[in-house]
Amino acid sequence: MHRDLQEILVSSEQLDAGIGKLAERISADYAGRCLTMVGVLKGSVFFLTDLARRVSTDVRLDFMMLSSYSGAHSTGVVRILLDLKESIEDSDVLIVEDIVDSGLTMDYMLQNLRTRKPRSLEICTLLDKPSRRKAQVPIKYSGFTIPDRFVVGYGLDYNGIYRNLPYIGVLKPEVIEGNRTCH
Ligand code: 5GP
Repeated sequence: MHRDLQEILVSSEQLDAGIGKLAERISADYAGRCLTMVGVLKGSVFFLTDLARRVSTDVRLDFMMLSSYSGAHSTGVVRILLDLKESIEDSDVLIVEDIVDSGLTMDYMLQNLRTRKPRSLEICTLLDKPSRRKAQVPIKYSGFTIPDRFVVGYGLDYNGIYRNLPYIGVLKPEVIEGNRTCH
């Protein structure tokens, strides 16, 4: 375990098994169709690439980047920093997200993407932190439900660090208080 962590919440083995189950459901639900997976940068990249490789239907990838947390606290304001490259009109679209917390990011994204007239639009999140939900978003696929802790790893960062950890863990409080950065 990384020295800055106090505990591992989801191990590599659990991630692997959970993503396998999600991929099975998605493959069955979209069988015979072409699925557009929209990854939300940067947090979803590890999840997206592992998931997409295990889905058996044809997959198209596109990305969006939205403004998100600064440090460990949400500003609640969502902005598009990078938009989709391709049209999603008449496409089956699956938003792939790392974690749904307040739900404000996904709520905004659903409303925004709906205006582009996709054939279908669903959410797949690796982690669901339901205790702090402010917007009730319909999550069709969820890997793991976790308690109200600030987690890092497997794409999730703190000040840009820890994304490459192969598991999901909880930072030691002194690391957050010390506001660790990396240049
Ligand atoms: P929401 O809009 O649902 O509150 O938050 C969504 C975004 O907040 C996620 O995509 C993620 O970037 C960030 N976030 C929420 N909870 C956590 C957490 O526990 N750890 C990290 N690293 N990011 C989080």
